[in-house]
Amino acid sequence: PWPKRSLPPQRLTPPTQPDPNSVRESENAVVLESGRRSGRGLSARLRTRRLEGPPPPLHQRVLVHRFPMSEQQRLFADEPVEWELDDAEERLVATVLFPRGPAAEFDYIVPDRWRGVIQPGQRVRVPFGKSDRTVVAYCLRVTSKAVGRKPLKSIEGLVDREPLLSPAMVRLTQWMALHYLAPLGQVFETVVPAGVRQQAGTRKTVLLSLAPNAKELLRDLKLKEKQLQIAKKLFGDPPPMTAQQWARLCGCTPAPIQTLRKHGLLVTAEARIRTREHDEAPVAQRANLVLNPDQQAALDAILRQLNSREHRTVLLHGITGSGKTEVYIRAIQEVVRFGRQAIVLVPEISLTPQTKHRFRERFEEVAVLHSHLTDSERHWHWQRIAEGRVPVVVGARSAVFAPTPHLGLIVMDEEHEGSFKQDSTPRYHARDVALERARDEGVPLVLGSATPSLESFLRAQRGEYDLVELPRRVEGRPLPDVVTVDLRVDFVDKLSRGALSRQLAIAMNQALEQGGQVILLLNRRGFSTHIQCPACGSVLQCPHCEIALTHHVADQIALCHYCDYQIPAPAKCPECTFPGIRYGGFGTQKLEHEVRARFPRFRCLRMDTDSMQSHGSHEKALEQFRAGDVRILLGTQMIAKGLDFPNVSLVGVVNADTALHLPDFRAAERTFQLLVQVAGRTGRGERGGRVLIQTFNPDHPAIQAAVRHDYQTFAAGELPIREALGYPPYGAMARLVVRGPREKQAEAFAQQLAAEIQMAFTARSVAARTLGPAPAPIAKLRDNYRFHVQFQSLDANGLRAAISGATSGAKPPDDVQWIIDIDPIDML
Ligand code: ADP
Ligand code: ZN
Repeated sequence: PWPKRSLPPQRLTPPTQPDPNSVRESENAVVLESGRRSGRGLSARLRTRRLEGPPPPLHQRVLVHRFPMSEQQRLFADEPVEWELDDAEERLVATVLFPRGPAAEFDYIVPDRWRGVIQPGQRVRVPFGKSDRTVVAYCLRVTSKAVGRKPLKSIEGLVDREPLLSPAMVRLTQWMALHYLAPLGQVFETVVPAGVRQQAGTRKTVLLSLAPNAKELLRDLKLKEKQLQIAKKLFGDPPPMTAQQWARLCGCTPAPIQTLRKHGLLVTAEARIRTREHDEAPVAQRANLVLNPDQQAALDAILRQLNSREHRTVLLHGITGSGKTEVYIRAIQEVVRFGRQAIVLVPEISLTPQTKHRFRERFEEVAVLHSHLTDSERHWHWQRIAEGRVPVVVGARSAVFAPTPHLGLIVMDEEHEGSFKQDSTPRYHARDVALERARDEGVPLVLGSATPSLESFLRAQRGEYDLVELPRRVEGRPLPDVVTVDLRVDFVDKLSRGALSRQLAIAMNQALEQGGQVILLLNRRGFSTHIQCPACGSVLQCPHCEIALTHHVADQIALCHYCDYQIPAPAKCPECTFPGIRYGGFGTQKLEHEVRARFPRFRCLRMDTDSMQSHGSHEKALEQFRAGDVRILLGTQMIAKGLDFPNVSLVGVVNADTALHLPDFRAAERTFQLLVQVAGRTGRGERGGRVLIQTFNPDHPAIQAAVRHDYQTFAAGELPIREALGYPPYGAMARLVVRGPREKQAEAFAQQLAAEIQMAFTARSVAARTLGPAPAPIAKLRDNYRFHVQFQSLDANGLRAAISGATSGAKPPDDVQWIIDIDPIDML
């Protein structure tokens, strides 16, 4: 039943450290012992651990509940008071939480048979409510408490044999709940994937093992000769197995095995076994590259932090093509050598076969966690990671919760990416969660990017992070020449009627004729991005959202990109029936049309969420481009990130302004990042590369900085603006969004909540700024009117505490919903 091709767990245990499992057991013994005696023993031990010597290895820190502590625990951990010692009834109590119930914690007595078994992070069954119905709950902590006359119920059963979460992960979960003002139960359900909760891919089964007194039994039994022969084969210490497996081992049918079981030679126990393994074929291993001096310096900086055995964040600012991944790999090798595990976080879109392969050819075991895993696969990976069998975990946002028992390093590539923020409750940012986890577990965090977020960059400037730079591309390759094409001029000259300016078309022709490949970025999907009547001026809008409909040519529909509402593309104006309705604006479909018409000899492929809907199509498209059959790759930002194709000699940005004028304080930063990233897709081979950026705003600082590959100047220009306005990274921010089907009602509730939050600021003397309520930039979505309020303050904790206090009891009218987004990324 157990995986065949797997590392023995001890391989991950460094030679100098004791076996984590045995330590765990003895830790439990400590809990029990001190629990039975008094509080003083336990708290004394806790304190000793905290103060003496270097921080203990991770697995020895099981008992330290750093944060947050209940009132009772705080008393208990710091100054044991007299009543604690005197009280007659000290019992072992598990404090639990219901994932979908009230947000409060509840205490239950731990029955004697589960002393030392029940641990934080484990699920238990408990009686709840007047009717005592059985409910599943997460154990948060186990403490010895004076229960006195308090009538406490007892735990009824265990759901998991082992905790799903380590104590460190339980702490992280609690931190998330506090930081993002999210219900703790919901955070648990986010941290532990559904497939793990449901134990997908396993089934209950009965295992048979040899009875302890089997030898004596066999002597006393009068077995037939044939059965005796079989029975003798049972000895030799095999592990518990199913009846079928026993039969196979003994070379007989299941019937005699059942007979032996009836005689008591074999005893039964229930267990869960995996019904399937999900191993992937091993990849041929490749030798290390020789690092260049910049890479070596970056690696040394990371290794220094690894060897210090303390948490520190290293910001690796390396331009595109500077070889950041090689630095990560070498740092991870070091971590693995010491028997520890590493987590590598990448944007979901970068989880390409190329990325997987780059890690798989350097490490024998790599778990790749992406959003298309089945529940069973996810559970399988989770268990193997939790068993310490997998040294390297590569995954998107939620891989930050990988249950590595011996974490040694977290790496986040493309740390500036907005997709690291989850857009549903809990609205966590994986970078901040990674930081908290790394800090708590005492391991380094490496943040890598060619365009670091201003949040990370400012911290590095202030010395909170170590800044390491890779200012050159590997092997002396130059950065591509970047030039802008002023669309205003082009517009006036009427040199082109399509999406491609004359300059871009000429450059494409040149690149293609010389055998190169071309990437075209247009961050808008669909064919025509707005449909307008020239007679009455009305724009075709979604009736459920305040969004213009986009024409999709393949299906001849007008589609809402937010709610998927669609109608047949009209030939005349639905308002005034004028027959000359106009389809304007460029989307990727129209661009594809134009490119095919102008470059019929070269194969062209479009990549956007419409063309990449089926699973695997993304990988297939990239494979075709890599093979060179496809010469022109065009698409939305999904083609801008992380791709490494040496033959790309031209990148064209069809419209650099799509994100520039969004009502979002990060609009310039996003534009800069996108341009630098997409420009980085070229000049990666011998061929060199060029970039043409079409824009109506060639003088915009973000575009100018991108033209010069000049991060420093961009940051130096943008940071003072943020500071003056109190925006992140200087001030903390929270966003309240209220939505409801009736406009007035939603607005009124937004006003009421905002007023209550403002009163809480005053009451707590938190200096904060409130903007709004105002209609959100997307004022109506799926028949709901949306209002938002922004809160800003230099005092992040005060901001959070006031909002939490003011909103905890908020009761919106029926149909009205509200959310609080801490450190928001999405401002629409
Ligand atoms: P980045 O992530 O910084 O954009 P990559 O890690 O993708 O850069 O590296 C770009 C290319 O350079 C890859 O093909 C990689 O294999 C190669 N490379 C990295 N380091 C070296 C090196 N020291 N010598 C030669 N090639 C290297
Ligand atoms: Zn809609």
